[in-house]
Amino acid sequence: MDDPRTPYLRWLPELEELVAIPSVGADPAHAADMERALAWLEPRFTDFGATTRIERSPGEQVLLADLPAQVRPETAPTLLIYGHFDVQPAGDLSLWDSPPFNAEIRGEWLYGRGVIDDKGHLVMYLEAVRAVLARQALTVNIRFLIDGAEERAGTLALDCMRRMTPRPDGCLIFDGPMIARGRPAFYVATRGTLAYHLNIRTGARDLHSGQFGGAALNAVEALITTLGGLRRGPDGRLPEPLRAGALPLSASVRAALPLMPEPLSYLAEQGTHPADAHVGADMYERLWAEPSFEINGIAAGQPALRHMAIPCEAQAAVSLRLAPGQEVETIAATAEAMLRAAVPAGAELTLTRRGASDPAVLPQSGPLLDAASDAFADQFGSAPLLIQAGGSLPLLTLLGDMSVVTVMTGLDLPEGNIHAPNERLLLEHLPAGTAILEALLSDKRFTR
Ligand SMILES: [Zn+2]
Repeated sequence: MDDPRTPYLRWLPELEELVAIPSVGADPAHAADMERALAWLEPRFTDFGATTRIERSPGEQVLLADLPAQVRPETAPTLLIYGHFDVQPAGDLSLWDSPPFNAEIRGEWLYGRGVIDDKGHLVMYLEAVRAVLARQALTVNIRFLIDGAEERAGTLALDCMRRMTPRPDGCLIFDGPMIARGRPAFYVATRGTLAYHLNIRTGARDLHSGQFGGAALNAVEALITTLGGLRRGPDGRLPEPLRAGALPLSASVRAALPLMPEPLSYLAEQGTHPADAHVGADMYERLWAEPSFEINGIAAGQPALRHMAIPCEAQAAVSLRLAPGQEVETIAATAEAMLRAAVPAGAELTLTRRGASDPAVLPQSGPLLDAASDAFADQFGSAPLLIQAGGSLPLLTLLGDMSVVTVMTGLDLPEGNIHAPNERLLLEHLPAGTAILEALLSDKRFTR
């Protein structure tokens, strides 16, 4: 039988070595492994001629590496390439079919923590650059920003990016999923976040429901009434004032909608149910271009007991996702006023903001996107769809604010199990991703 490693010997030894370093950034017990990972990475960049620098802040490290173009570096554009070397913790080892930090091939997959999030992509970067340099074909100045704190939402990489002079002409991020096998995607917008804690007080003490039931104000009921102020309407949309500023989907993103997984089966696969009868028709518009409001948790009374009391206090954690185009401060003022207006007379609301981030809106066209799109189409036979993400990524918000044309993509798959046991990389994506990068880094269209 043929050795399954044979076609992938260009990548496997390095990827296996890197996976074997358990660079779990969130766990202080792995602090030395973060340094080992840096010590493994840095010489690989200096070996092909890059100038490297390591930036540090408490608990965070970022590796920066600058590599000049081989073709007219003075006039060549500068491409920022982002990736990260920290990984999620392995979690429950009993749920892994092979040791997480010992990469193993089974079938057409390579298994291990970090194989695709994001170490596989890092090894593709290294191999592509080596190949392009060997052909004397590097047409862009590359500035690598290899983050050691992506998985714990670090801020050092963002600071490095803000300080970067001159500003990069484009950015490439391989750290995300395709829609399905053979169907790549570029992410062009994400939602923002806005979170609150609410405390409702309706009196000095809990009361007996026999003596006061039907007469005294109930804190749980007051909380529900208050939260009702932000509730979705029957069409599944939030009240109009909370939708202010939301941008409609562009024509190119709209064109991707019919190619996305069918909403109702997508929800069923996740083990959940549609929020209302319209979700089947407009799920992606909602996830990508509408704000949402979720009650994340409620605490009040003693529900475990048969306890006929009227609670005097209730609390909730809630959060909004802001649509691309919306701004945190505007929507925060609106949401806070609506919540306060919904508080029943006699109840006292204490509202505490718990963090927020603006949505990201990235340019949707330009020579870098065209070149990247062609490179993906050459490998997969279909051009990437421009799609949006319902989640939030501060890095993209910053790139959008800086108007940096960004290719946010990756060769992970929905079945890649990132952040979960048995994380895996489709082996054939190693040559595919590397070929895409080689084409892009030697493309002559992406010039200033
Ligand atoms: Zn990642």
